[in-house]
Amino acid sequence: MYNIELRMELVSYAKKMYESHLVQATQGNVSIRDRKSGLICITPSGADYQTLTAEDIVVVDEEGNVVEGKWRPSIETPLHTLILRRRRDIHCVMHTHSPYATAFGVVYEKIPIVLSDSALCLGGEVPIAPYRMSGTTEFAEGIAEVLGDGFAVIWGNHGVMVVGVGLAQAFAAAHALEDNAKVYTIAKQIGNPVLLAAEEVKKLHAFWMQNYRQRELE
Ligand code: 13P
Ligand code: ZN
Repeated sequence: MYNIELRMELVSYAKKMYESHLVQATQGNVSIRDRKSGLICITPSGADYQTLTAEDIVVVDEEGNVVEGKWRPSIETPLHTLILRRRRDIHCVMHTHSPYATAFGVVYEKIPIVLSDSALCLGGEVPIAPYRMSGTTEFAEGIAEVLGDGFAVIWGNHGVMVVGVGLAQAFAAAHALEDNAKVYTIAKQIGNPVLLAAEEVKKLHAFWMQNYRQRELE
């Protein structure tokens, strides 16, 4: 079986996504690029996170063609592969349906950064991509455009996507995005939230990238 270690790491983060309530039932998907071969490990479509094992992971090439696997890959494979082809600085794509962050994609309001911890992972306010039916090439192009060189994007009327150098970083960003959206929503109910200045958010993110990069390259 191709790259068992990477598959196992992917499975463990897919389960973390589920256990942290960032996804429910079979929602969401996650992928990681093998930096040596360029091949991509991705969760199968309709993954049952509770029973998911390394053997269920699908290996695709950068164009999304299945190289190994017994299931169909996630329906969002065209998006994962497009992002991984365009962004050589990151190797993981994580899509969740975390509810507070997703709610901002229902009212089409960008999420400002209000927590220093979230600033570290996200690096700037999180944009909303217009609704399109997911799983298509057009959808993938639209999301990639709104993501740009950022680290998170909300999919209008659907969910959220984050990217990271490694799985730990992508998972931290998915969590940070949900925490930030949740605390901002609560803060708006009790007063006038004070946002972190854009420059401060950038500074914190640059510091974090430096530290995470070093750890993930070890
Ligand atoms: P898959 O199970 O095919 O990955 O789809 C889940 C999802 O959230 C689609 O956006
Ligand atoms: Zn989804």
